[in-house]
Amino acid sequence: MQSQTTEPIIEFDRVDKSFGDLLVLDELSFRVDPGERVTLIGPSGSGKTTILRLLMTLEKVTPKADPEREGGVVWLEGKPYSHMEKKGALVPANEKWLRQRRSRVGMVFQQFNLFPNMNVLRNVTEAQVHVAGRGKEEAEAKARDLLELVGLAEKTGEYPSHLSGGQQQRVAIARALAMDPDVLLLDEVTSALDPELVADVLAVLRDVADTTSITMLCVTHEMGFARDVSDRVMMFDGGRIVEQGAPDAMFSEPQEARTQDFLRAVL
Ligand code: ADP
Repeated sequence: MQSQTTEPIIEFDRVDKSFGDLLVLDELSFRVDPGERVTLIGPSGSGKTTILRLLMTLEKVTPKADPEREGGVVWLEGKPYSHMEKKGALVPANEKWLRQRRSRVGMVFQQFNLFPNMNVLRNVTEAQVHVAGRGKEEAEAKARDLLELVGLAEKTGEYPSHLSGGQQQRVAIARALAMDPDVLLLDEVTSALDPELVADVLAVLRDVADTTSITMLCVTHEMGFARDVSDRVMMFDGGRIVEQGAPDAMFSEPQEARTQDFLRAVL
């Protein structure tokens, strides 16, 4: 659970995000401790994926309409993330800053998003070589270790189209981990899978959680996984945190009516 003494690895400080007239995140503030596993739950449209997309720099925070209003900044590892410092002030980050900073964050998507024209090994080495600047041998050794971890050591030469959805998702997990991110973002990673393939992917993620100290932020409808793996569950509705707490307390004794209704519908 969060403590007051640790410096957070992630901090949202009064962040707004709009799409046109639609205000999706409304002065959202929260902190995540290093190594913490946080699950975001809540009805569809409550802003969960937008939070992950902001952390992946696939979206930008919306500037405050009133320039006097403070906040509106995402922080990572004690440094501004959505913004950068310029002459002592925070200004929106430019592409170069974002490119550098986002390499600390790995993401696994619902639809796997593997490179279809590359075999499994290259899917896991590509960014290591071209973004992290590692040598081919080092990248391949790392990829093989990670493919072993996700149970796909035998599949290095296969192309994604020859793999099941569950196997593709496990490659995507290996690919995200290959960059040694400090934060792993998981966006409904089992939603596109046939039910019989879900367990394998969740087992791999449990292994990752058990064997590493990586910080995890996870949007999921798998409440069993949320319960097992998370330190904290945050319930969202309308771009705000309705309630948060340890999974046992959240699932057995939710305090807010909206959490109770949501959990009744999904459990
Ligand atoms: P959740 O992950 O909780 O289902 P999202 O973060 O995906 O919610 O979406 C929050 C709201 O923002 C939804 O109403 C969604 O339709 C809207 N939204 C998300 N992305 C965009 C976009 N690129 N353009 C317009 N509206 C968007």
